[in-house]
Amino acid sequence: MSLVIVGSLAFDTIQTPRERREKVVGGSGTYSALAASFFTAPKIVGVVGEDFPPEIFEFFRSRKIDTRGLETRPGKTFFWEGRYGCDPNQRETVKTELNVFQDFRPKLAPSHRRADIVFLANIDPDLHDEVLAQVESQALVAMDTINFWIANKPEAIWSVLKKVNIFFANEEEIKMLSQETNLIKAGRKVLAAGPRLAVVKKGEHGALVLGRDFVFGVLGHPFEDVVDPTGAGDSFAGGFLGYLDKAGKFSRPEVRRAAVYGSVLASFAIEEFSIDRFKTLRPEEIEKRFREFRRLVTF
Ligand code: AMP
Repeated sequence: MSLVIVGSLAFDTIQTPRERREKVVGGSGTYSALAASFFTAPKIVGVVGEDFPPEIFEFFRSRKIDTRGLETRPGKTFFWEGRYGCDPNQRETVKTELNVFQDFRPKLAPSHRRADIVFLANIDPDLHDEVLAQVESQALVAMDTINFWIANKPEAIWSVLKKVNIFFANEEEIKMLSQETNLIKAGRKVLAAGPRLAVVKKGEHGALVLGRDFVFGVLGHPFEDVVDPTGAGDSFAGGFLGYLDKAGKFSRPEVRRAAVYGSVLASFAIEEFSIDRFKTLRPEEIEKRFREFRRLVTF
């Protein structure tokens, strides 16, 4: 199988109650491709400026991520600044600078157009549409977004949703998009637009997978100390889709397992700042935590 991920590569400035980190590497494409790389060899598509460290491309390649879809353009890399409150589920976007993403037009290579799974990670929903127009296969399409795009381009999101099979969002985002305060109603509204599944991430508390006649809940890893919540959602989606790509089928038992792997990958992402935890993470640790998750819900 093959997984193509289109998303942002970024510099993030992160403020947590305890620490501030300036211009660390982040981005929805970065986190989701790294998380997926523990299961499969994803192909990442995106753009960076000339200021982006080349060693990150090297790191991607060392993790068997196909980087042929990455472009380097004159100008600055996408920048995002976020601030977290004492509750890591509460975050505020302080600044978003699109920079080289402003006039990025993704072009999929022929091998990318025949993907089995396409993940439209969080970027401008108009770009999502442009990517889908180039896909030639009957791919499973998944999508994620963030409140910046829900506030600025809600119609574009609803329009892409018609062509999407799995929608990932956090609780705040799906409520904002659907203009519902109840999570189940919000999920139903999204499913009515097209997707077969809505995966609602509930930060450190786990996630809810909602289908038309199917609900599955997965816990988050019980932590006392979250170092940097950034990228948890992207890592969840990357782990989920990377696992499905490896499994090669989209049956309900596999979707349940994918949700647990998504939660496991998210739980590692938040243990260190930026993508640092993925630099040391070993497959045995993933399997060990998967078993711990299973024990958490067995009674
Ligand atoms: P997450 O914590 O998983 O929801 O995603 C955080 C990542 O999303 C950060 O590393 C940011 O660089 C990236 N990001 C934030 N805002 C946007 C945006 N408007 N478009 C694309 N990526 C973004």
